Amino acid sequence: MRDFSQDHRFLSINTATVRKSHGVELPLSEILDSCARKGIRAVSPWRDQVHAAGLSNVARQIKSLGLELSGYCRGGMFPAIDSAGLSAALDDNRRAVDEAAELKAPCLVLVVGSLPGGLQGRAISKDLSLARTQVRDGIGELLEYAQKVGVPLAIEPLHPMYAADRSCVNTLEQALDLCDELDPRRSGTLGVAVDVYHLWWDPKLQQEIARAGKDRILAFHVCDWMTPTTDMLNDRGMMGDGVINISQIRSWLEAEGFSGYSEVEIFSNNWWQRSHHEVLDVCIERHCQVV
Ligand code: ZN
Repeated sequence: MRDFSQDHRFLSINTATVRKSHGVELPLSEILDSCARKGIRAVSPWRDQVHAAGLSNVARQIKSLGLELSGYCRGGMFPAIDSAGLSAALDDNRRAVDEAAELKAPCLVLVVGSLPGGLQGRAISKDLSLARTQVRDGIGELLEYAQKVGVPLAIEPLHPMYAADRSCVNTLEQALDLCDELDPRRSGTLGVAVDVYHLWWDPKLQQEIARAGKDRILAFHVCDWMTPTTDMLNDRGMMGDGVINISQIRSWLEAEGFSGYSEVEIFSNNWWQRSHHEVLDVCIERHCQVV
């Protein structure tokens, strides 16, 4: 297992972690500058931040700062109530693949979606199994396009508390079943994002990481699970502040040969109130101490 205690060369920052500083929205350009200045070598930006800054501007800045990407967030949200909705979702995902290619991202992360309308608090359907079928079909169609463009797709299973709205893929086992069904030859273009926040509780986690193997593990996201968790979306903890044994999970990934970045992804109403400089400094410190 790699020694992270001496430096932070394998640290990546998911830009949502510092999307606000002192509670105020922070432009992506400033986030990228601050990361580079602190010797952080990789980032994973969100689409809305990239769109606000302009795709070509972001691509240029990333290149000039010498940053790498550990992923691009995010595609997905496949289910819809009708065929027009399904094809609109697919079109948007193809654009996300194109953007990921322009930014030279190693993968497009997929948060696959669930019951149509669920995210808006108005689920139109209760048919979870139909949502799962639409997700499978959507990923299958997108995969053909992504393979042509050369961008791997990383399915990110989400904690079951999001099963109604953000993702009907809730375990690593489920995500890997999709990979096996849609990419039986293990082409390297379809895999998973392992996020400790979503998966730490799963009794099959170690076994499923071994099943994934190196070629299916496309991203590793870290933060911590707070007790109590006061907000389902925006109360993620800083590594070391919660109950997840992060380095144990990393050891399972590395036993399979994973050698990529540990991407810090913290959505937190608390950490967004602090200065982003302070947040990045704590990320670096905790990366060395507990990841
Ligand atoms: Zn994640």
